[in-house]
Amino acid sequence: MVNRVLILGDGDAGTIMANKLRFNTNIKDVEITVVGKSKTHYFKPDGIHIAFKMVDYKKSVKPTDFLLNYGINYINGEITKIYVEDKFVTLKSGKNLAYDYLIIATGDRFVPEDIPGYDGEAKHFHDLQHALELHEELKSFKGGKIVIGQSSIPIMCPPSPYEFTFLLEEYLNSRGLKDKTELHYIYPLNNVFSIPNVADYVSKIMDERGIIKHTFFNVDSIDPKNKKIQSIEGENINYDLLILVPPHRGQKVITDSGLADESGYIDVDRYKLTYKDYDNVFVVGDATNLPISKAGATAHFESVYLANRIASETSGNLYDEVYDGSIACTTATGYERAITLYFTYNKPPRANFDSKMDYFLKWQSADTFFSSMVRGIA
Ligand SMILES: Cc1cc2nc3c(=O)[nH]c(=O)nc-3n(C[C@H](O)[C@H](O)[C@H](O)COP(=O)(O)OP(=O)(O)OC[C@H]3O[C@@H](n4cnc5c(N)ncnc54)[C@H](O)[C@@H]3O)c2cc1C
Repeated sequence: MVNRVLILGDGDAGTIMANKLRFNTNIKDVEITVVGKSKTHYFKPDGIHIAFKMVDYKKSVKPTDFLLNYGINYINGEITKIYVEDKFVTLKSGKNLAYDYLIIATGDRFVPEDIPGYDGEAKHFHDLQHALELHEELKSFKGGKIVIGQSSIPIMCPPSPYEFTFLLEEYLNSRGLKDKTELHYIYPLNNVFSIPNVADYVSKIMDERGIIKHTFFNVDSIDPKNKKIQSIEGENINYDLLILVPPHRGQKVITDSGLADESGYIDVDRYKLTYKDYDNVFVVGDATNLPISKAGATAHFESVYLANRIASETSGNLYDEVYDGSIACTTATGYERAITLYFTYNKPPRANFDSKMDYFLKWQSADTFFSSMVRGIA
């Protein structure tokens, strides 16, 4: 019997998952189909560097279907509803797709409309278009007050706002603008990051570099006319340039299918990655509601676990391992410095030092990603 594995989403998680599973299973036993609406695959971590023109953005994009290995079916289209009870999915084209195993990897989306005044005023670096626009903005910046941060929790790649802030500080220095600029960092929690140990380390570097911190700052609204940002907690800050990662939510199709509330993030078993009691429905990548997990590296570790599990099950073997919450992430602390965080559910990360070697890892990541990681090799 051929087992039909249907993967929803053609981003990092869906592509890595499909490629890893293809490596682990025989084409005669397991049929793999990926559905997604992308034409191109953008390596999102490059957004931080693209905003400073440190990398050529054309190298950060590849055709989506080119990254799927031989023996994987790809359907380019929009998923409109998921019926887990009846084991099928509908597409906008009118097509229905039945499955034996379902893997949901639909990621999340921006919801700038949640913040009055955001659209057209705030800049960010979380997609290619906005990273390129931000570069133009920074090029013409002559000094003033920059407010930078994230509007709410969760967002994709939680360290990205502090990474960007450190590179921005270097950039302003290199252009002789540091003395003419005030850098204000805002964060929704009571420290500058959600993991205490990392937050303390990052906070110390911010103090050393004169970055002014505002914690417990959950963005309520933006007043573009008076160039003012207001928090739910009642604090106001004026700015000349506002760099703000927009609020995120899971995909609408997830809420519409009754798999999640308005947040759009799916509640999963954190060890098995299963949805409710369905042992044939899994969720990987940013689509889950797992805390501090929204990283391509998470999708990678989750896919390793799940590919092994499905390969074992479909070949009649028992698989009793679990996903242990592994995440590895290298984040820049300056032009030539970075820290690498590695952690699991039981082992918190340790942020003791940044180094040039770690930065080298970061620098290589697009090449490594496209040539091996996304292809399921690493
Ligand atoms: C600035 C920045 C820096 C980052 N740095 C790092 C880093 O250093 N390390 C790291 O590990 N991670 C990093 N990340 C995070 C990482 O890029 C994401 O966590 C990862 O891309 C999420 O992958 P995903 O597949 O879950 O979601 P996505 O890549 O968003 O993929 C979801 C896919 O589903 C498709 N889809 C959704 N809904 C539908 C539908 N209804 N019908 C059809 N298709 C649909 C979408 O088209 C999309 O292709 C960074 C992210 C940003 C923005």
